Amino acid sequence: MTFKELGLAEPILKALQAEGYERPTPIQEQAIPILLKGKDLLGVAQTGTGKTAAFGLPILHHLHNAQNGQQGKRRLKALVVTPTRELAIQIGESLTAYGKFTHLRNTVIFGGVKQGKQVNALRNGIDILIATPGRLLDLMNQGFISFRDLEFVVLDEADHMLDMGFIHDIKKIIAKLPPKRQSLFFSATMPKDIVELSRKMLGDYERVTIKPEQATAEKVEQGVYFVSKGNKPKLLAHLLQGRPDDSVLVFSRTKHGADKIVRKLNQADISSAAIHGNKSQPARQKALGNFKDGKLKVLVATDIAARGIDVEELSLVINYDLPNVSETYVHRIGRTGRASASGIAFSFCDQEERPLLRDIEKLIKQEVPRMPEHQFVGGEDEAGVGKEQRPQRANNPNRNRNRNQNRNSNSKGSQNQNRGRNRNRF
Ligand code: AMP
Repeated sequence: MTFKELGLAEPILKALQAEGYERPTPIQEQAIPILLKGKDLLGVAQTGTGKTAAFGLPILHHLHNAQNGQQGKRRLKALVVTPTRELAIQIGESLTAYGKFTHLRNTVIFGGVKQGKQVNALRNGIDILIATPGRLLDLMNQGFISFRDLEFVVLDEADHMLDMGFIHDIKKIIAKLPPKRQSLFFSATMPKDIVELSRKMLGDYERVTIKPEQATAEKVEQGVYFVSKGNKPKLLAHLLQGRPDDSVLVFSRTKHGADKIVRKLNQADISSAAIHGNKSQPARQKALGNFKDGKLKVLVATDIAARGIDVEELSLVINYDLPNVSETYVHRIGRTGRASASGIAFSFCDQEERPLLRDIEKLIKQEVPRMPEHQFVGGEDEAGVGKEQRPQRANNPNRNRNRNQNRNSNSKGSQNQNRGRNRNRF
């Protein structure tokens, strides 16, 4: 299947060629025909699957065809609501690229910055608006945005909207949408609240599901290091020192943890920056910009701040902490191995995180390959992992604990085999 066979308008095909896209990704192949027919869509898929083009191309196609010969000020005809500023900016960049041979114009609005420039862009007239929920409602309430001419509405990353507490804002936005519209609803997971929300928004819809296993397992090489909590900084510095030219995204479970990792890396003379919700918007954009340009090789991010970070040449993702929610693992490792590239994702797992690893393996239906022994295994820490490589004496008071650890570390069956197999993989 080619983009041409999907029936997209000529200027869009030209832009895709300029982007170097040779063929549609699975979600594009499935979603684009549904959307070109004018039906609503429920897309169960994560960022990294080519989701933006899956919804963006048909919208651009419809608007381009309707635009021919149209006069007067531009009216807002398509709205994309997305949870984070980073994701909003990224979607704006993608739609600008896909629409560069059309005359369609988009703008991006998000909170945390003054509204002046955003209001000016809206006043000048736009066809497509990409917005985070809070700023959207704010500018609507101030009378700068009208939904009167809206024909297309995309709700992106609905599950993360919910996680971030946007549910009331989203309900208010949905309540104001014009009844005659085409609605697109995307979420990586479908818990009960999200199903309910999707019912509120969608009319006669078709569903497309891109399973996380498809998105991850095939393209991303994975590996897990068993390491004590106290030794994680050393192992991280060691891995990064061995890959000075790689662009690496490190995930931390908490904002405080992300700052701590940056401090530890600085002590090891590795420059890095953290992005998370407590950082100012200019600081986040600067760090992300430097990372995208390759000036900064290591970016430390929390899950929410990292949603949708789209960096070409991102070669390595490191899960410094394992996430509490298994689906998040899939999101994280999806940062590398984007659409056509392949990538590597390493995870650090301390004793307390073993159950989280088991949950992840259950979800992705595969064992994350065990990485070879490393020099930072030993050392006591609060998680109780220490000296597990040492031979035990019969009356050693730590005997039972160490026994359990050895049993745990062997309980994955083929672990030793994997160690050998993976030693030279990465
Ligand atoms: P998304 O899931 O929309 O964030 O897209 C993930 C990445 O895949 C982005 O870097 C896109 O530029 C890229 N991409 C999307 N569709 C294609 C395609 N058909 N061929 C190659 N790359 C693509």
